[in-house]
Amino acid sequence: ATHEETLGFQTEVKQLLNLMIHSLYSNREIFLRELISNAADACDKLRYAALDNDALYEGDSELRVEIEHDQDANTITLRDNGIGMNREDVIANLGTIARSGTAEFLKQMSGEQQKDAKLIGQFGVGFYSGFIVADEVTVRTRKAGTDASEGVEWRSKGEGEFSVADIEREKHGTEIILHLKDDAKEFADDYRLQSLVRKYSDHIEVPVRMPKTETAKDDEGNDIEGSEVTTWETVNEATALWARPKSEVSDEEYKAFYKHVAHDFSDPLAWSHNKVEGKLEYTSLLYVPGRAPFDMYERDGARGVKLYVQRVFIMDDAEQFLPLYLRFIKGVLDTRDLSLNVSRELLQQDPQVDKIKGALTKRALDMLKKLSKDSEQYQTFWNTFGSVLKEGPGEDFANREKVAGLLRFASTHNDTATQDQSLADYVERMKEGQKKIYYVVADSFNAAKNSPHLEIFRKKGIEVLLLSDRIDEWLMSHLTEFDGKSFADVAKGELDLGDVEDEAEKKAQEETAKAKEDLVKRVKEALSDGVQEVKVTHRLTDSPACVVLPEHEMGYQMRRIMEAAGQ
Ligand code: ADP
Ligand code: MG
Repeated sequence: ATHEETLGFQTEVKQLLNLMIHSLYSNREIFLRELISNAADACDKLRYAALDNDALYEGDSELRVEIEHDQDANTITLRDNGIGMNREDVIANLGTIARSGTAEFLKQMSGEQQKDAKLIGQFGVGFYSGFIVADEVTVRTRKAGTDASEGVEWRSKGEGEFSVADIEREKHGTEIILHLKDDAKEFADDYRLQSLVRKYSDHIEVPVRMPKTETAKDDEGNDIEGSEVTTWETVNEATALWARPKSEVSDEEYKAFYKHVAHDFSDPLAWSHNKVEGKLEYTSLLYVPGRAPFDMYERDGARGVKLYVQRVFIMDDAEQFLPLYLRFIKGVLDTRDLSLNVSRELLQQDPQVDKIKGALTKRALDMLKKLSKDSEQYQTFWNTFGSVLKEGPGEDFANREKVAGLLRFASTHNDTATQDQSLADYVERMKEGQKKIYYVVADSFNAAKNSPHLEIFRKKGIEVLLLSDRIDEWLMSHLTEFDGKSFADVAKGELDLGDVEDEAEKKAQEETAKAKEDLVKRVKEALSDGVQEVKVTHRLTDSPACVVLPEHEMGYQMRRIMEAAGQ
């Protein structure tokens, strides 16, 4: 080896390695899934690159992953004939974590094993998971299409540094050798490896192969020395899962595939698998994750689907096929309606993309509607992604009503902070003569719940939605109607309780207003320019006075957001 150098891992990698090794002990076997997943990705990438340049296959276009082990040497070797890496790639990919939000993510670590294991899973352990079972990892790789002399060897004990050196490597692609820790020797076993491949990687389209050695026997049944023949056997199913008929895919397979696509650790909450033929031709497999990715609120966080065109992988995170408010949805889209050489730039101009986006949006919303029938599961979903879904009515005019049906709110109906009441529930409970859906917006649930504006509503038993998320006021400015009923902010404009009030009450209010004209005048003088108007109100039953905003005035929350944005 030449041009050998030793480099330090990026601080974040060191932290991650440390945490991973300590918190994922009971989940060690996932290292295999992660490494196979990377090998499969590398094959996908080569297939894509070779669309333009066949020569990249270097005469070997049968993409595959191979797994071998050596019980004496205590090693497991994973090999792929995918895209491979050059020196620069190796240093960047196996020495740093390039995702935004990583530092903040690491700060959330508590030192509590189970909690941290979950968090790390959510972050995605990837390549470094090899160090859960290995005390030394060697990577030999060469980028497809480069000279045999441009091979690279990467070595590390996972402790703080790694070395890279130039090597001669005849084959392109990557080989990873795990030198197993003493307590992980059990993995150097045919049966164990095979069952792990089936468990985690059945759905991966590239074949994962393992060697099988057969020895010829003589007439007495003894092995004939030197007669060993090794054949490679494909261990996994090796067909694209989404291309298989729904009826032939088990829940377990759907879940395993989700983990590969979403780089997640835990099970999804729901999925929707559809094959569409006709004007548009596509197959989609969409998932609702069970929890939020660590970068959901990052501007450049990963989102979108994995895009395939006629089974050929094109790109990860194709965000053009789902609206922003559904950015938590993960999955795969495979279509015939795009050309194989489509790029991110071309996607932005292709009219087919909008059509597919419309269709996938509908699929995703239908999937959520179906999920909502299970109130417990839906509550999990809502608690995690509800505030993102609330961006929907503002972003997607056409589906406003559909999204509205999926929203959940806290309400005076049960006065708890949990957002678990649907608009349909509210409408069902509306009083006779009530025409509007009432809501109040405040900075916190408690402020909303104790708002003086609610007094009259509580007295009359009229339900009010209690809104206190940052996005709520913005949401309500786009949500004008549900089921033919308009929305009314109880803190704004004239209070109109519809026909819930009877004539006698209205009359009594008018009389009080007349009788107090003098008082109103004096208060108005005292407050002078501070207010637009002073009125006698029947909003209140206990409090003496409250501030009301004019009908079309921006609310407090909105003002604060605008101020924070420097407007
Ligand atoms: P992720 O797969 O989420 O990108 P990983 O930690 O699993 O993160 O891998 C980091 C990067 O290392 C990959 O994105 C890829 O660029 C590179 N890599 C890992 N394994 C391979 C491989 N077998 N062939 C080519 N590149 C690889
Ligand atoms: Mg990976």
